[in-house]
Amino acid sequence: TDIGELLLSRIRDVTDYPEPGVMFKDITPLLADPAAFTALTDALAEIAGRTGATKVVGLEARGFILGAPVAVRAGLGFIPVRKAGKLPGATLAQAYDLEYGSAEIEVHAEDLSAEDRVLVVDDVLATGGTAEASVQLIRRAGAEVAGLAVLMELGFLGGRARLEPALAGAPLEAL
Ligand code: IMP
Repeated sequence: TDIGELLLSRIRDVTDYPEPGVMFKDITPLLADPAAFTALTDALAEIAGRTGATKVVGLEARGFILGAPVAVRAGLGFIPVRKAGKLPGATLAQAYDLEYGSAEIEVHAEDLSAEDRVLVVDDVLATGGTAEASVQLIRRAGAEVAGLAVLMELGFLGGRARLEPALAGAPLEAL
């Protein structure tokens, strides 16, 4: 699509970052281009509207940069899902496995309730581990998952297949 090509043209491939053998997708050129950043925000806000979301969850850290303007544009509240130990209030936590070791994410328990339908926003879907944990966290908070929307999906890592059970029919949209 036209928007897909515009967005792709503003993503920089960085070889051997953060370690040898990895090709990192750097979205900072897209953020610096107001036409591309606006087009991305509008496209994600359209998904929020179409899926009937009542809240936008952004995943630390680039999911904050993308999710916050989407929430404003869609007229919805923004909820940060953070790495463990960063939120001051009472939290729910979800651990997940990394290639080496494990990680933990948290959300303020009071930010989500049974009335909410949540659109999860992040920049890149890689193995799907982070997104899967966030979906589990949202469900444990009692809320419904409206969908997962990402700028870019690295298809060869199989994140979509991994997420299928957790999403339970909710859409995964990659621009
Ligand atoms: P996953 O849990 O393996 O799907 O990794 C996804 C998380 O790692 C997301 O929060 C992304 O921001 C980050 N990530 C993984 N690969 C890249 C990349 O190439 N560029 C930017 N972020 C990435």
